[in-house]
Amino acid sequence: TTDLCAPLAVLGHDVQVPLVNGEKVAYAALDYAASSPALQRVWDDVAAYAPYYGSVHRGAGYLSQLSTDLFEQSRRTVEEFLDLREGDQVVFTRATTDSLNLLAGALPSGTRVFVFETEHHASLLPWRREGVAVSYLRAPRSHAEAVAALDEALAGAGEGPKLFCVTGASNVTGELWPVAELTRTAHRHGARVVLDAAQLAPHHRVSVRELDVDWVAFSGHKLYAPFGSGVLAGRRDWLDAAEPYLAGGGATRTVAREVDGSVAVEWNSGPARHEAGSPNVIGAYAIAAACRALSETGFDALEAREQQLIARLKAGLAEIPEVKVLSLFGDTPLLTDVARVGVLSFVVQGWNSSHFSAALSAEYGIGVRDGLFCAHPLVRTLLGGEEAPPSECGAPEASLPGERSLNAIRVSFGAGTPDEHLDRFLTAV
Ligand code: PMP
Repeated sequence: TTDLCAPLAVLGHDVQVPLVNGEKVAYAALDYAASSPALQRVWDDVAAYAPYYGSVHRGAGYLSQLSTDLFEQSRRTVEEFLDLREGDQVVFTRATTDSLNLLAGALPSGTRVFVFETEHHASLLPWRREGVAVSYLRAPRSHAEAVAALDEALAGAGEGPKLFCVTGASNVTGELWPVAELTRTAHRHGARVVLDAAQLAPHHRVSVRELDVDWVAFSGHKLYAPFGSGVLAGRRDWLDAAEPYLAGGGATRTVAREVDGSVAVEWNSGPARHEAGSPNVIGAYAIAAACRALSETGFDALEAREQQLIARLKAGLAEIPEVKVLSLFGDTPLLTDVARVGVLSFVVQGWNSSHFSAALSAEYGIGVRDGLFCAHPLVRTLLGGEEAPPSECGAPEASLPGERSLNAIRVSFGAGTPDEHLDRFLTAV
């Protein structure tokens, strides 16, 4: 499986970083959940296109036409990657946060939104706006509990438009959520579903048709493309009925001066309605290149390789009694086979997580993340406390050795991660 995943080689694993003892080692990037390094293939594809890129839509020149074709072909590639239904569309955005805010702005007035409090802030917070009522569901401790909680909440929700937002895989625990079952439950009550696939899409095939979700959002920079581009894909109707996300060129069909001196606007429908301004053509092209690389490698090979890495990591951590792996759905004892992607958070008894992570970097050249991972309610539930942290995504005050941790350490990786990185990490821990 390592060989099968060769097309998923990333740029950046050879970077030499200095350690506190003066040595240098190849950087072990184990923070894919924040941002995966981009694939060598993605950079190569982008570099090959770079001399030809030009402004898209309406440009009369050769390069504009070529770029328009490649931009629209990139959209088709993403449509295929996500296995969209007839009539669905792909809107290019800046990232998942942007995609979910776009959708939040397109909700019909009076929409009730249902979301588990355990979500990443990008899925938890965009719905707080005028004309929208948000219900926060308490942290479930099993898949069955999640489905039952949603069922109960929606049963009492009454008529009117409803939306349920759910993550496919947790950016904290890596655990999978029962998306298909939650979606069936939501649909039974007439609620629509948006899937935050920021962490799911880089690890598992996401078929909108099979999961039957109404929308899916993901970020290019977590899917082995560089920063700056993302996707909101799915149903058109609410988006076509909404005000454009940004007002400006490209979102309009016609703009005309009226006899009374005012200006009348007819907005476009479809993706263009929400893609005003000059789009990130290179970003869309890079996402499509990443989708092609993942599809060609195949999710079977990718998942098999990742499961090898996860097993190696879990077995190694299980031998260290001071390590406590965090799990919402009961991944204890450590070796229980709860389905997860290559994302795992833990605390080390007697250690402050920030100091621990800083030592991993300075002494071993390993990049992980510490903190609350933009999912404060979830991490506090997992750590068993209610303290408010001082900053958005940062680390709270140091806890004294022996005290309960207020933040955690997260290790995350992908199919192209070499065994050596995980082994070095385990040795360091
Ligand atoms: N949802 C989840 C589950 C995430 O992990 C992240 C990024 N950490 C986001 C949404 C937001 O993604 P972005 O920062 O690319 O907008």
